[in-house]
Amino acid sequence: MNRNKLLLILIIAAIVGVFLGFDGHKLLTLENLQTHQASIGQWIDQNLVLAVGGYAAIYVVVTALSLPGAAIMTLAGGAFFGNLYGLAAVSIASTIGASLAFLVARFLMRDTLRRRYGETVAKMDRGIEKDGAFYLATLRLVPVFPFFLINLAMGLTAMKLRTYALVSWIAMLPGTFVYVNAGTQLGQIQSTGDIVSADLLLSFALLGLFPLIAKFVVGFIRSRKVYAGWQKPEHFDYNLLVIGGGSAGLVSAYIAAAVKAKVALIEKHKMGGDCLNTGCVPSKALIRSAKAADTLRHANRYGLESVPVKGSFKNIMNRVKDVIAKVEPHDSPERYRKLGVDCIAGEASFVSPWELEVRHNDGRTERLTARSIVVATGGKPAVPPITGLKDMQPLTSDNLWELEEQPERLLVLGGGPIGSELAHAFARLGSKVTQVEMGERLLAKEDEDVSELVLKQFQADGVDVRLKHSAAEFRIEEGEKVAYCEHEGERVRIPFDQVLVAVGRAANTAGLNLDRIGVDTLPNGTVPVEEDMSLRYPNVFACGDVAGPYQFTHAAAHQAWYAAVNGLFGQFKRFKVDYRVMPWVTFTSPEVARVGLSEAEAKAQGVAYEVTRYGLDDLDRAIAESEDHGFIKVLTPPGKDKILGAVVVGSHAGEILAEFTLAMKHGLGLNKILGTIHPYPTWNESAKYAAGEWKRAHAPEGILKLLEKLHGWRRGKNTNTPRSIYAPD
Ligand SMILES: Cc1cc2nc3c(=O)[nH]c(=O)nc-3n(C[C@H](O)[C@H](O)[C@H](O)COP(=O)(O)OP(=O)(O)OC[C@H]3O[C@@H](n4cnc5c(N)ncnc54)[C@H](O)[C@@H]3O)c2cc1C
Repeated sequence: MNRNKLLLILIIAAIVGVFLGFDGHKLLTLENLQTHQASIGQWIDQNLVLAVGGYAAIYVVVTALSLPGAAIMTLAGGAFFGNLYGLAAVSIASTIGASLAFLVARFLMRDTLRRRYGETVAKMDRGIEKDGAFYLATLRLVPVFPFFLINLAMGLTAMKLRTYALVSWIAMLPGTFVYVNAGTQLGQIQSTGDIVSADLLLSFALLGLFPLIAKFVVGFIRSRKVYAGWQKPEHFDYNLLVIGGGSAGLVSAYIAAAVKAKVALIEKHKMGGDCLNTGCVPSKALIRSAKAADTLRHANRYGLESVPVKGSFKNIMNRVKDVIAKVEPHDSPERYRKLGVDCIAGEASFVSPWELEVRHNDGRTERLTARSIVVATGGKPAVPPITGLKDMQPLTSDNLWELEEQPERLLVLGGGPIGSELAHAFARLGSKVTQVEMGERLLAKEDEDVSELVLKQFQADGVDVRLKHSAAEFRIEEGEKVAYCEHEGERVRIPFDQVLVAVGRAANTAGLNLDRIGVDTLPNGTVPVEEDMSLRYPNVFACGDVAGPYQFTHAAAHQAWYAAVNGLFGQFKRFKVDYRVMPWVTFTSPEVARVGLSEAEAKAQGVAYEVTRYGLDDLDRAIAESEDHGFIKVLTPPGKDKILGAVVVGSHAGEILAEFTLAMKHGLGLNKILGTIHPYPTWNESAKYAAGEWKRAHAPEGILKLLEKLHGWRRGKNTNTPRSIYAPD
C-alpha cells in the first residue's frame, strides 16, 4: 500500500475514533435534538453564518465518513433553517459528503480491484458507462439501499464524479425534502420511524422504478427514432434475409430454418465463403502436404531413410481442390434448400432497413422484404498502396489457390497468422521463402516466448524471417522482381519471383448501399455492431468478418447465433454476445493455440496472475513421436486454480487447448483437470500434467512437513535422512 493511502486511512481512522470516543453518535439522537431545540435555535439566531457553515461542515463529514447520524442531521436542517434553506443546505452538503466518500473509496480500492479482478471490473465499467446514471438514480430513490454503501460501491466503478454528484443530488432531493419537512415539525416526531410511513416507502419504491421505466422509454424512443422517414412494409416476404453465404451467413440461415422461420440466403459468389474456398480449408490442406514433405525430408528421425522431396506442385494444388470439393456439400445450396433455406445466387444491396435489392447472377433484379436482415458479407485481403506492388500481380489468399507453378523465391509480406501459416507451408514444400514483418516479432498478438519458439522453427525450416522490415517499394530490375524494405534506417533489397500479401483483411461493405440506410463503417472498415449484433436499426444485424473484432470461422458462427436469434425473437428477449472464452489456433509448426488472457494482456489490463508452465519435452507421447518440443502456459489468479488464459505451443496444440477452453467456459479449475483420468499416452495428458505443475507449486508445505514428522514417528524414527537403496554396479 502506498504512503498516501496509508496516510488517508490513518486520518479517517483518527476522525472516526474521535467521533466515537466523544460519543458523537450519542449526541446525534432525536431526543437530544428535541431537548435542545430551543437553546440551539436561540444560538443560531445570533450566529447565523457560523451556524450554517458549521452545520454544513458537520453534515459533510458525517456523510463523507459514513458516520451514523445523517438522518438526525437532516431533521435538524428542517428544524433550524426551515423547508427552503434546510433543503438547500442538506442537499448540497449531502452531495458533497457523498462525493467525498465516493472519491475516498475510489482512491483506496479501485486500483487493487482492477489488478485482481480486471476483467470483471472492465465489464462493470462498460455497464456503468452505458446505464450507470439510471442505476444510480434507482439506488438513490429506492429506500432499501443504505446511502453510505452506494457511495462506496459507486466509487469503485468508472463513473465520472460529475455524473455521480449531479445524479445523486437530483435523486436524493425527494427523500431529503421528506426529512427536512419532518424536521420543521420536530416536536411531533416520536421516532425516526414516524417520518416515513409504509405508504411513503412504497411511493419511494415506485419512484425508484422511474429511472428504469425512463430507460426503457428512452430506448424505445431511440429505436423508433432511427426508423423516422422509413415506411415499414405491411407484409414481409421473409422473417429473415441473410446476405452472404460464408460461415456467418450459413449459420444464421441454418438457425432460422431450424426454428421454422422463412429465410433466404443471398450469395453473390460461392457458398461456403472464404473459409471453404480460399481460407481455412485450402490452407489447412496445403499445410498438411507441407507437413508430409517435412516428414519425408526428416524420415531419419523415425529410423527411415530421409528422401529428397520432389513434390509436384500441380498435384498438391489438385489435392487442395479435391479437399474443397469434398467439404463443399456441407455448405451447398442443395443441402441448405433441403434444410428449408431459399438460396439465391446474386448480390444484395439495401433499399431500406427491411428491404433488399437482389441483382441475380443472370442480370435480373428483384426486391425482397424481411422483418430482420443479417449482413454477413465477410472480408477480403487488404493490399497496401506500396509503390509498384500492384505491378507485381501480387498473390493474396484469394488468388493463391489458382497458382499452377510453385514460386521458386516467394516473398511473404506479413507476420500474422495467415502470412506465417503460408510462409511456413511454402518453405516446407521447397520454395525459398523470405518473410517480411514490420513489427519486432511474428504472431505479435501472442506472448514473446511464443513468437520466439515459432521463429526458431521457421528459421530451422529455412524461412528467411526479416523482422522490423517495412516494404517500401517494388520494382523490376533487369527483368527481376525486387522489393525494397526499410530496416533500421537502411534500404534492404530483396529479389523474388512471387509476392504473397498477407498484411490484414478489409471488411466487405462495398456495394451493400449501407450509406443509403445511414450506416457508417468504423475506421478499420468493419460495421459498428451493438452487443446484440444489431446495427443502428434493431432489426438489422451483422456478424462474421464484416463485424469483427475476430476473424475466425468459429467466431463468425458464434456471432451468427446472436444475430439470427435476436433477429427472430428480439422483441421478446435480446441476447448479448459473449466473447469471454474465445479460442483460436494458428496452424504453423509448432501450432499455437490460445484461449483467454496472454501474459501481455493480463499485464496491460492490470490483472494479477501467476504462470504455470509445462514443457512438452516431458510428455511421453510427444517423445514417442519425436515431437517433444513446445510448452503449455496457464495463467491463474495468484493462489487460485481458476484459468485466466492458456496457450499451447507445439504439436496438436489446437486439440490440447480444447480441454482448457471447456474448463474456462464452465468455470472448472486446474484441480478438476488434474482429477480427471486421461488415457495414456495421449497428447491431452499434457493438460493434466500442466495442472499437476500448478498443484505441485501450491502444495501445502506446512501440512507436508507435519505429515513427514507423523510418518517418522509412526516408523519409530525421527530422522528422514534419505539413503541410497540401489547402487548400480
Ligand atoms: C488463408 C486463410 C486461412 C484462414 N484460416 C482459418 C482457420 O484456420 N480457422 C478459422 O477459424 N478461420 C480462418 N480464417 C478466417 C475465416 O476464413 C473467416 O473468419 C471466415 O471465413 C469469416 O466468415 P464470414 O461468413 O464472416 O465471411 P466470408 O466467409 O468471407 O463470407 C462472406 C460471403 O459473403 C458474400 N458476399 C459479400 N458481399 C455480398 C453481397 N453484397 N451480396 C451477396 N453476397 C455477398 C461473399 O461472396 C462471401 O461468400 C482464414 C482466412 C484465410 C484468408
